[in-house]
Amino acid sequence: MSDDLTRRDLLQALAGGTLVAASTMLPITAVAQQFNRGSGRGPIADATGSRTPATLRGDQVVQPERALPVLHTTDVLVVGGGPAGTAAALAARRQGVEVTLVERYGHLGGLATGGLVLAIFPLYGSDRRQVILGIGEEMMRRLDTLKFGIIERNKAPEYPIVDAEAFKYVLASMVIEAGLKVFLNCWGVDAIIDSTGAVRGAVFESKSGRQAILAKVVVDASGDGDIYAAAGAAYTRVKDNIGLVSRIGNIDEIDMTGGDEHLAAASGQPVTPRRPTRGAPTMTLDGKVGSPTPAPHTNWLNMMGPVGDALDIAQMTEFELKHRIAIWNNVERVRAKAGNEQAFVLETAPQLGVRLSRLLHGVTVLTAEQARAQTKFEDAIGYSGSYAGQPEFQIPYRALVPQKVENLLAAGRCIATDFPLADTTRLIPVCWVTGEAAGVAASLCVTDRCTPRTVEVAKLTSILRAQGAYLG
Ligand SMILES: Cc1cc2nc3c(=O)[nH]c(=O)nc-3n(C[C@H](O)[C@H](O)[C@H](O)COP(=O)(O)OP(=O)(O)OC[C@H]3O[C@@H](n4cnc5c(N)ncnc54)[C@H](O)[C@@H]3O)c2cc1C
Repeated sequence: MSDDLTRRDLLQALAGGTLVAASTMLPITAVAQQFNRGSGRGPIADATGSRTPATLRGDQVVQPERALPVLHTTDVLVVGGGPAGTAAALAARRQGVEVTLVERYGHLGGLATGGLVLAIFPLYGSDRRQVILGIGEEMMRRLDTLKFGIIERNKAPEYPIVDAEAFKYVLASMVIEAGLKVFLNCWGVDAIIDSTGAVRGAVFESKSGRQAILAKVVVDASGDGDIYAAAGAAYTRVKDNIGLVSRIGNIDEIDMTGGDEHLAAASGQPVTPRRPTRGAPTMTLDGKVGSPTPAPHTNWLNMMGPVGDALDIAQMTEFELKHRIAIWNNVERVRAKAGNEQAFVLETAPQLGVRLSRLLHGVTVLTAEQARAQTKFEDAIGYSGSYAGQPEFQIPYRALVPQKVENLLAAGRCIATDFPLADTTRLIPVCWVTGEAAGVAASLCVTDRCTPRTVEVAKLTSILRAQGAYLG
């Protein structure tokens, strides 16, 4: 069989089998190279393992001190490639600084792709106008040009539902086009602190071993605040429901409900009974079939899951195993119903559904009370739409800045809010907002030689507005 690929093969490889609108395609030359088999296959060199292993001393395991290779040096380092991290990295890059994005899995999108969390919730204000714009809106516009990329766009109060593979495609295209340096399959395990106590990069573990990336400023978009915790920032450790989202294939039925809480919250009106639940998490999987996705005959089934500690690896493992068994058993119940005989588990999310784990102690801690009171902030960097009965609210820049640690910003679900409000600030579009703001602020730290604490807020907000963000 020939090793040469046809243009059609390439497009299918790029789009995961989905046809792609010409306007959003990468030039074929940009990707053709990776599919050529090339020469130079075979052994590289004989080697002896060069790691410095930990040693057992009595009942203690001790790691020796050692110098780490520096993998890369950059202006802005963003750790975590989820909604917040991708928005942060793209926003910083647009300000002309060098940006490096590091992600522990092999794709971008975080829970919005790897977690199969497909609904883009609090986009709209109570008057149905879209209040979250900027880079997140740009991502959705790109999804809009793809067949089976996104449904329910611009139909407030209904929320858009994305396709995870289309979203991975869009994000991969955007980071390549932007000229971002990206390292995938790279897990941030420590912060690097200089002699003044400021964060100067992070340590990563990958198949290349333990390496350092040095940076002028770091954005922690890991969702779990892994880097700010390692740097010594104060935070609140929280427990929340941990579920596992799945997709069911070959299904045309959708779950019906007497009222959709999200829809009711957004419209302020009583909702028509028996609408689809549209992604609301199910408490029990007693034959639930979920709600529609952009892919034909395919539903996604959100899961609430039990309360757990996302920083407890034994508990996370137990949930991963038991949730997958529950999902399989549920589809067997679904198949038992007439008309659903051919339904099957299309996929379980590769990423466990962690809602919250760490909440930063920021210079400002945004509270549910402030949101209810419609508090206005002089350093507002964005706005959240209303969600599940919660009001729309402004988000202050200083909720991204740690109380003590220097040279680091937080973005996404681990920013400084109280626990009740975190249920909204953790949602995908709000993570876009805090990510974009953290990215621009980080770029200003480089261009204006300042720190996150001393960023000129008026400049930050004017750049965000110019990028299309709505600040309330
Ligand atoms: C079950 C469930 C259902 C949900 N439903 C909805 C919904 O319908 N609509 C909605 O808007 N929101 C929903 N959410 C919330 C939303 O999906 C997430 O809160 C949001 O994706 C958070 O974005 P983030 O970028 O802050 O974090 P994440 O999406 O978690 O992304 C963080 C990224 O960082 C990477 N990472 C983590 N640690 C490291 C490390 N140490 N080193 C390198 N990389 C690291 C991760 O792999 C990941 O890619 C749901 C969440 C869950 C769990």
